[in-house]
Amino acid sequence: MAKDYAKSFYKSKAWQRCRASFIGHRRSIDGGLCEHCKSKRGYIVDHIIEITPENINDINITLNHDNLQYLCLDCHNTKTFLKHKSIDDDLFFDEEGNLFQK
Ligand SMILES: [Zn+2]
Repeated sequence: MAKDYAKSFYKSKAWQRCRASFIGHRRSIDGGLCEHCKSKRGYIVDHIIEITPENINDINITLNHDNLQYLCLDCHNTKTFLKHKSIDDDLFFDEEGNLFQK
C-alpha cells in the first residue's frame, strides 16, 4: 500500500521512534483507543496531512504528533474509501499516478 517514495521513510528509525512515542502518548490518554470511533483499539498511526513526495522531508508533517491520529482498521479503511470516492467525482489518476481534474 505504501508508495515507493514513502517506503524508506516508514522503515526509518526516526519514524519508528515517532510512531512508538505517539502510541505511548495515546495509551496514556485513553488506553490507546481509535481517535475516530473511540470504541475500538487503535491499530494504525495515520498522517492527517498525507505524506507526498513534496513533503516527505518536512518533519513538521512526517514526524509531528499534531499531524498524527491513531485509528482502528475499520476507520482507517473508511477514511481511505471516502477519500477515493470523493476523488472519483471530479478527479482521476493517469497510469503514472498523476492527479488530474476533469
Ligand atoms: Zn475506529
